[in-house]
Amino acid sequence: MERRKLVAGNWKMHGVSADLAEITSISLAAETADIDMALCVPATLIERAVRAAPGFSIGGQDVHGSEKGAHTGCISAAMLLDAGARLTIVGHSERREAQGESDGDVKAKAEAALAAGLSVILCVGESDSVRESGKAVETVTAQLDSSLPGGISDASRFSVAYEPIWAIGTGKVPSTSDIDEMHAALRGRLVAAFGEAGNNVRILYGGSVKASNATEIFGVPDVDGALVGGASLKAADFLPIVDAASGSINR
Ligand code: PEP
Repeated sequence: MERRKLVAGNWKMHGVSADLAEITSISLAAETADIDMALCVPATLIERAVRAAPGFSIGGQDVHGSEKGAHTGCISAAMLLDAGARLTIVGHSERREAQGESDGDVKAKAEAALAAGLSVILCVGESDSVRESGKAVETVTAQLDSSLPGGISDASRFSVAYEPIWAIGTGKVPSTSDIDEMHAALRGRLVAAFGEAGNNVRILYGGSVKASNATEIFGVPDVDGALVGGASLKAADFLPIVDAASGSINR
């Protein structure tokens, strides 16, 4: 199966009504793009973003692992769907670190989201000290193994984002050979877990992707798109990244 590229934005804790025009501008480009695009916005903005960008993929940035219950401040997969979201990020390093989310928590979130019908982008990545110790591949593949959902019925709804923590928001990017090595190792783990379906899961790169480095990053085998933070907030920054991904399908 072909893996159509996916470029998704993560707006983090940015975005109010005044920013909806950026979402509309980005969504208009999706009408002619030959890749998949999405924006994961704050939960407060999902419903208005869906109205501002009809037909475009709007997502959440997190989801609870339970269907419902006494979880103050949390959002279930059914609630995301009800607001109009089609996907969610799970396991972002900012949540793993600041909210103390374990691999088990991330697995439960991915399973809950997939079971409800959402698409999922599951994030993994190493710290700078792990990278420097030479243990990045073994650490991140172990993190993936214990965060993966038990099964995937539709590989097109499940993506993994390799996001080195030291590259997020810092302007630093791994070498293309380091990205290549990590994505190949993650592909191996996905095939080990899911068989042939593991070849159909998209593996995105995330961490300081910009217009200036996107073409080089998308040229790495097994890079099936990007998860973009800071450069996804403005159409003028995000759309050149989309353009850099266009016209290439990984097989
Ligand atoms: C992210 O947080 O998912 C991310 C990739 O951020 P940035 O692009 O700003 O490094």
